[in-house]
Amino acid sequence: MMDLAPPRTTKAIIDGALCAAASGETNEVRSPIDGLVFAELPRCGAEDLDRAVRGARTAFEDRRWQGMTPKARKKIMSAWAELVEAEFDELCALQSRDMGMPITMARNLEMANALDALRWYAEVCDKLYEEMVTLEDNVTALIQRTPLGVVGAILPWNAPAMIGAWKVGPALAAGNCVVLKPAEEASMVWLRLGELALQAGVPAGVLQVVPGRGSVIGSGLSRHMDVDALTFTGSGPVGRQIMAAAADSNLKRVSLELGGKSANIVMADAPDLTMAADVQVGFMFSNQGQVCEAPSRLLVQREIAEDFLAEVAARAAALRIGNPLDERTDMGPIVSAAQREAVVAHIDLAEADGGELILDGRAMPVPAEGYYLGASVIRVDDPHVHIAQEEVFGPVLTAIAFDTVDEAISIANATRYGLGAGLWSDSMDTIMYATRRLVAGNINVNGGSGPAVELPFGGFKESGFGRDRSLHAVDKFSDTKNIILRSKR
Ligand code: NAP
Ligand code: MG
Repeated sequence: MMDLAPPRTTKAIIDGALCAAASGETNEVRSPIDGLVFAELPRCGAEDLDRAVRGARTAFEDRRWQGMTPKARKKIMSAWAELVEAEFDELCALQSRDMGMPITMARNLEMANALDALRWYAEVCDKLYEEMVTLEDNVTALIQRTPLGVVGAILPWNAPAMIGAWKVGPALAAGNCVVLKPAEEASMVWLRLGELALQAGVPAGVLQVVPGRGSVIGSGLSRHMDVDALTFTGSGPVGRQIMAAAADSNLKRVSLELGGKSANIVMADAPDLTMAADVQVGFMFSNQGQVCEAPSRLLVQREIAEDFLAEVAARAAALRIGNPLDERTDMGPIVSAAQREAVVAHIDLAEADGGELILDGRAMPVPAEGYYLGASVIRVDDPHVHIAQEEVFGPVLTAIAFDTVDEAISIANATRYGLGAGLWSDSMDTIMYATRRLVAGNINVNGGSGPAVELPFGGFKESGFGRDRSLHAVDKFSDTKNIILRSKR
């Protein structure tokens, strides 16, 4: 088990200084492991937010960051990544403790991808080329890339280091100044990442971390008249409020990464059904199912459905539930007592709707303290029932049998969402046919792979719009400006 030192940082980062909330208000941070308070953080208010936005605006206008040579910015961002790497294990443990992510996932996925993204976007700084076009013999136009200004970033609690790095990395690489609002359920890691950024030489005002309530700091950012762009990952209802606030204020550019109800289609000709069952269970129940892209709908071809579901349920039943700081743990606690209750309510409703509980997580033995819940596998016939349509954001897998690939595609696409999809088949014809028709931003075929900073990430329909990761994310935080040059001869 990990050694639990007290958290290094419990301060907001505003205009280059570590500080408390102006009001002095604090927020007690409880670990979902045992429900006990382990830190007190500032709960910032409107005054703090205004100060942060002013600091960001000043830093942007005086060009202390955007005016630096790209190589100098790269050097600072690389130094930041080095500091993060030096504290890697401690940051992972902090994250586990704050929101219950198993330590192995914190290391192999959350913090590993956060670090990779910081490095990748550091390298982007001096590899952004601009365009030029000749209009006449003596007229040349430069199409310059220009940062947007002050970028607000609002994070969810489920994988904040990684998701935050996918936003902050490209925003900084493009020359913007960022005001980041972490979720109160998981603020600790960004307070430290922000402090390390300062230590690495990110100038004051360029990256600020303002912890506080969504209804105050998140809402305040989204309606602020001096914030130029807002990037959000979280729930659909809050995403809608943010868009409305942007429209009602200064028309800031918004990009939204919202939820999903991703389908994983397993055809009878899947090349490796054992691997398919492993990936289905591993991906679905990682982070206790609190993953936006989780393959939460298993669509399985009828002729193999009985056997495959038995395999999946057996693997899910064998997942080790326990303290997330224990290396052997597969599933830690749900992030909060309220979230656990919400997940259980989804299972209750699925049962009332006639769903068959192949595996009932509510009945699984779990540690007495903390907000633990076992994995559930629920089979339904009707793809339109609640549990087959609504995002649970917890350890609940819904399974549906189908007969033909066309039926699978139509079930897969028949939700409000369009974030991820999976497909298992040995037929290139099936793969080409289905992947062209599936409405999802990320489609894993025969196992695919985990998140990669090289690939754009985001969804269609009510899963939101705009892409995190890759160079497409840099486009999101910058825009073009034409300089048309006429020479006398
Ligand atoms: P959430 O309730 O939408 O919260 C997300 C963030 O928005 C938090 O920082 C929250 O602050 C803040 N917020 C709350 N009210 C706000 C408002 N009126 N204006 C602006 N910001 C506000 O979602 P969550 O509970 O953190 O995360 C779970 C959801 O996120 C799930 O639905 C999941 O699907 C989605 N998600 C999507 C992705 C993706 O990439 N597509 C990734 C991860 C999660 P406080 O919580 O501190 O009050
Ligand atoms: Mg927490």
